[in-house]
Amino acid sequence: MTGSIATSQTILVVGGGISGMTAALEAAECGKQVILAEKEPTLGGRTALLYRYFPKLCHPTCGLEINLRRIKANRNVRVLTMAQVVKIAGSRGDYTATLRIAPRFVNENCTACGECAQAVSTEIPNPFNYGLGKMKAAYLPHSMAYPQRYVLDPSIVGGADGQKAKAACKYGAVDLDMKEETVDLKVGAVVWATGWKPYDASKIQPYGYDRFPNVITSVEFERLADPHGPTGGKLLRPSDGKEAKNVAFIQCAGSRDENHLRHCSRICCMASLKQTNYVREAYGDAGKSTIYYIDIRAIDRFEDFYQKVLKDPTVKFTKSKVARIAEDAKTGNLILHGVDTEGYHRYANDHDLVVLAVGMEPSVKGADVPAEVIADSSGFIEGSPDGGIFSAGCASAALDVNRAAQSATAAAMRAIQVINRTASVEAA
Ligand SMILES: Cc1cc2nc3c(=O)[nH]c(=O)nc-3n(C[C@H](O)[C@H](O)[C@H](O)COP(=O)(O)OP(=O)(O)OC[C@H]3O[C@@H](n4cnc5c(N)ncnc54)[C@H](O)[C@@H]3O)c2cc1C
Repeated sequence: MTGSIATSQTILVVGGGISGMTAALEAAECGKQVILAEKEPTLGGRTALLYRYFPKLCHPTCGLEINLRRIKANRNVRVLTMAQVVKIAGSRGDYTATLRIAPRFVNENCTACGECAQAVSTEIPNPFNYGLGKMKAAYLPHSMAYPQRYVLDPSIVGGADGQKAKAACKYGAVDLDMKEETVDLKVGAVVWATGWKPYDASKIQPYGYDRFPNVITSVEFERLADPHGPTGGKLLRPSDGKEAKNVAFIQCAGSRDENHLRHCSRICCMASLKQTNYVREAYGDAGKSTIYYIDIRAIDRFEDFYQKVLKDPTVKFTKSKVARIAEDAKTGNLILHGVDTEGYHRYANDHDLVVLAVGMEPSVKGADVPAEVIADSSGFIEGSPDGGIFSAGCASAALDVNRAAQSATAAAMRAIQVINRTASVEAA
């Protein structure tokens, strides 16, 4: 189906993470019409997949819930999920954005009762747990998902499981005939808020992420700690399900490195400092965390958090870039090799689990945006030369949630200025 459903008075926000939701709400609460397009089946982005937020260690569900409530209450925001922008043509004040909307195979009759998931037997890797563990091929992405509507994986549509899901639904919500749609939108300004993705840890060969099951990434560790995650919140290591009580955190895994990411992601030090709390929370004084670091970058008010962790006797800091990791084949433990730069002695330290604090990359690099945009050497986006497309949040730089929200508010403001200028030109 092809249609045209907006005017140039509308702002398109691409990406429904905390930045996209913030930009959409700020513009909508100023009375502007907003379309919020998210490629996944739910809003929330990567913050919804964190266990706790630094610096206060509160649960992300709290902030997410407030934003979702604001979105539900605001008729100016129209949310499109499973929607990707494939083309933006035109110029500031008068763009045509082409969106491809993937079929969910479940319509708005869905009550999220979960009968379809019980009926199907096919399992697929769970992307919301970064592939740790599996989920049914009829699924709700996570407990806070918005819309609260199930999704059928395309792999079961056309097969016996698709029919079972349809038969199990009392509300006629499973629609196996849904097709991909292409929609053209007339919009005046665009906020590009497609966020970040973790650097591919398998590229850091000396650390053996693709060889050793007990070497995981910081985003995977967030899921292990989460009660809604693959282990029900227990810090169990992947190889044998043993409790991980002696955890190594390796900082700058692939960051500040000419061979990988040149930039510092600014978040990773704080993320590891926060994650030592997960170990303490799980085991009290019996847990042990060691942070291997080049230098700790805890900016502004985060310094207090760092100072607190420094005083925790269960946390050890080793100033060193770990050279390589080997696996003890009998125990599954990891042996970290390197040189401690305070004292210059070699070490070969044994740990149950290694967490790589991987850097953040733009999830869509400047060159892959389907419009002309200016980007830096890492692919983080500034905006379009014509001044009608603005980046927000981690699409523009590696940022924490607070700074991402500030950047999104600024982008919304600029988008509103474009719309207002267009409106006054039309009125004259
Ligand atoms: C290990 C780790 C722990 C962290 N812990 C904290 C913490 O405790 N506190 C804190 O403040 N920050 C933390 N952060 C940082 C935090 O995750 C980011 O600040 C936050 O995710 C930024 O939100 P965003 O909306 O800019 O990007 P994202 O969360 O990445 O959201 C982007 C959205 O855009 C969507 N999208 C992508 N491409 C497209 C497309 N082509 N079309 C449509 N939609 C698209 C994505 O699906 C996603 O929903 C942590 C980061 C890491 C790596």
